[in-house]
Amino acid sequence: MAELTGKVAIVTGGGSGIGRATAELFVDEGARVVIADVDAERGEETAEALGPAAAFKATDVADADAVQELVDFAVARFGGLHVMFNNAGISGSMHRSFLDDELHDFSRVMGVNLFGVMVGSQRAARHMAGHGGGSIINTSSIAAINAGGGVMTYRASKAAVIHFSTSIAVDLAEHGIRVNCIAPGHIATPMTSYDMTQVIRRTQPLQRHGSPVDVAQAVLYLASERSAQITGIVLPVDGGTTAGPPIPRREVRREPDREGSAGGG
Ligand code: NAP
Repeated sequence: MAELTGKVAIVTGGGSGIGRATAELFVDEGARVVIADVDAERGEETAEALGPAAAFKATDVADADAVQELVDFAVARFGGLHVMFNNAGISGSMHRSFLDDELHDFSRVMGVNLFGVMVGSQRAARHMAGHGGGSIINTSSIAAINAGGGVMTYRASKAAVIHFSTSIAVDLAEHGIRVNCIAPGHIATPMTSYDMTQVIRRTQPLQRHGSPVDVAQAVLYLASERSAQITGIVLPVDGGTTAGPPIPRREVRREPDREGSAGGG
C-alpha cells in the first residue's frame, strides 16, 4: 500500500532540487500534488513529467494572495489538502563577511524564507482545521542550528522558521494538524554551487553525499501516518553535521613500554 494514497499535497519550490524530488516521491506514493514555483518553465515541466496526479500553479510564496490562490487551486483541482510542504527558499547574497553585507536583500530573503512559510502554513491550516487535520512540513536548514560565518540573513530566516514551526505545532495541535521542520545539510541542487567535497570532508561525519531524494524520504515520513505521534520537531537530514564534525584521522602512535621498546613482536 502506498504511503500517501488519497492525500493531496502542495510542494512549494517544487520545480527544482529538494522540492522536485519530494513531488516525485509523493506521486510515487499515491498522492496528488500541486507544484508551486516562481520558475514556471521548470514547474510546468515537472508537473507534466509526473502526469495527471500532478498540476502546476505559478506562485510567489512571498505574496499572501498568491498563496491563498494556491491553496484554493489545490482544493478545487484535487478535492482537498492534507500535506503542505513549505519548501521554497532563496539564499540571498552570499556575503562571507557581515561587515561587508549591506543587507539589501533582507526583505526578499525574509519574505520568501520566513513570510512564505508563515503564510503557507496559515492558509493550508485554515483549510485543514475544518477538514480533519493534516501535516505541514517546513524547510529550515542546518544553518539555523549551527552558528557560522556568512549568509546572516539566510541563517536568521531559517532559525525563525524553526521557532515559528514549533510554536504553531502547539497552536494547531487541537485541530489535528501536525507541524514539523526538516533541516537539510549539504545537498547538491541548483542552489548549492560551492565545492561540497571539501565541506563534507571537514564537517560531516557520514562522508556520503546527500541527495534531494534523501531529504524527500524524510519529508515523506513527516507527511505520512508513520509520524502520526510526531509534531513540533526539527529533523536534520545532514549526515550527522549538527551532531559534530568528523574525528580527524590520526596516526595512532604506540607509546614505548618501560623497557624502552615499542613492544609487540
Ligand atoms: P533549488 O533547487 O533552488 O529549489 C528552490 C526552488 O524554489 C527553485 O525552483 C526556486 O526558483 C523556487 N523559488 C524561489 N523563490 C520562490 C518563491 N518566492 N516562490 C516560489 N518558489 C520559489 O533549491 P533547493 O536546494 O532544492 O532548496 C529547497 C529548500 O531547501 C530551500 O528552502 C533551501 O533554503 C533549503 N535548503 C537547501 C539546502 C541544500 O543544501 N540544497 C540546505 C539547507 C536548506 P528559482 O530557481 O527561480 O529561484
